[in-house]
Amino acid sequence: MSGIVAIAGRPNVGKSTLYNRMIERKEAIVDNTPGVTRDRHYGRVEWNGREFTVIDTGGYVTGSSDPFEKAIRDQVHTAMDECDVLVFVCDAKEGVHPLDQEFASIIRKSKKPVILVANKVDRPIDYGEAHDFYSLGIGEPIPVSSENGSGTGDLLDAICNALPPDKGDLIDDNIPKFAIVGRPNAGKSSIVNALLGKENNIVTPVAGTTRDTVHTRFSAFGLDLYLLDTAGLRKKSKVHEDVEFYSTLRALKAIEECDVALLVIDAERGLEAQDLHILLQIEKEKKGLVILINKWDLVEKTHKTAIEMQKEIEEKILPLSNVPIIFVSATTKQRILKSIETAVEVYRNLKLKIPTHELNEKMLESIAAYQPPSDRGKMVRIKYVVQTNARTPTFLFFANSPLAVKENYKRYLENQLRLHYGFQGVPLTLVFKEK
Ligand code: GDP
Ligand code: GDP
Repeated sequence: MSGIVAIAGRPNVGKSTLYNRMIERKEAIVDNTPGVTRDRHYGRVEWNGREFTVIDTGGYVTGSSDPFEKAIRDQVHTAMDECDVLVFVCDAKEGVHPLDQEFASIIRKSKKPVILVANKVDRPIDYGEAHDFYSLGIGEPIPVSSENGSGTGDLLDAICNALPPDKGDLIDDNIPKFAIVGRPNAGKSSIVNALLGKENNIVTPVAGTTRDTVHTRFSAFGLDLYLLDTAGLRKKSKVHEDVEFYSTLRALKAIEECDVALLVIDAERGLEAQDLHILLQIEKEKKGLVILINKWDLVEKTHKTAIEMQKEIEEKILPLSNVPIIFVSATTKQRILKSIETAVEVYRNLKLKIPTHELNEKMLESIAAYQPPSDRGKMVRIKYVVQTNARTPTFLFFANSPLAVKENYKRYLENQLRLHYGFQGVPLTLVFKEK
């Protein structure tokens, strides 16, 4: 489930063609970060039971005539820092290019496994063209044709062999996971440090985990849990969009893995487009959510500021509702414990099971008080409701004509469920079945 593979190389060698072939164009996710000159791509690859994320690092910073300007070097450095395996692509039709040698000289210094690809070897008879690339000093070139797919199986085998062992064995999947996510500089590391306490470091990261997301296991408010720290990148890239890109990537991976996400927002900046992007993902993956408005110490406040800001955020995150919003400061440690306590509550809400008789007692009452509107003259009747055994709270409503239940009414039912049982910070799924 883990692993990041970055595809690097000079322009036009076929990186994006290879990328598309690897992900089979199924799951391309385009990062539309404003300011990124070329869309950045990342997608999931599954090969022989291994899963990893592949990144096309093709995004170049424009506005320079020097094809190997500092920004590009920086980009390669960042990719090497962030990835587990680097796939370095060359063009076998062109042979060894001076820029290949420049890339290679950077790559040779990396401690990460590197796989050298001689691309555009379209026919077996051309295999010999790949040999030139031995001279780069980064190992045996794998001849590949990204265009027709030949050699890509060998490449995927080589990647899987080079990936670090799956951390699945090291991380106990039965223990709840909380992810601290948010934009760069929102204060994620500061919050993690405030939580875990640098000085009395009673907890240690679990050995062998990948360095992009550190799993720290500890116990709080009666719950044994992992904290997923996505702050990453100690040595931050100077290319702003790179920082943003990898940070989003880390956030998405952590969201996928976690049970509850703590979204950190910089109080001075408020909720921005990138935050909404992360929120959307949390919603899509049906994870628990707590919003932390950090750097509260920096905000000039009157008695109304918190309420106003809370309202503003609640409006922005619609249709999400009933999400805990906490005003915190990593610096003064204000409400840091409250944050984790709330996240623990959200986790418990996520696992809450309402007994059927109790559910029907309350919900049939709500339904009797406000019946579903009839549909084209036909009465719509909801007869009973059960909670399923799904990972997140899911309610099955049995009705005479389930398709006729309108969105508004579904929202009413959701609100009633929240009214009766809380479910703060967790997504509710309502399913309608015929009976
Ligand atoms: P990038 O700039 O490194 O991402 O390169 P692209 O993926 O955009 O490819 C550059 C050009 O090389 C395009 O015209 C591709 O069609 C072509 N190309 C890519 N892979 C192959 C291949 O395996 N064989 C051949 N003959 N052409 C390829
Ligand atoms: P990350 O990139 O999200 O991990 O953010 P950091 O934890 O590195 O914090 C970014 C900057 O904001 C650092 O200079 C922190 O000292 C500062 N910072 C973080 N939290 C707070 C806070 O609650 N109050 C103030 N005043 N500064 C903070």
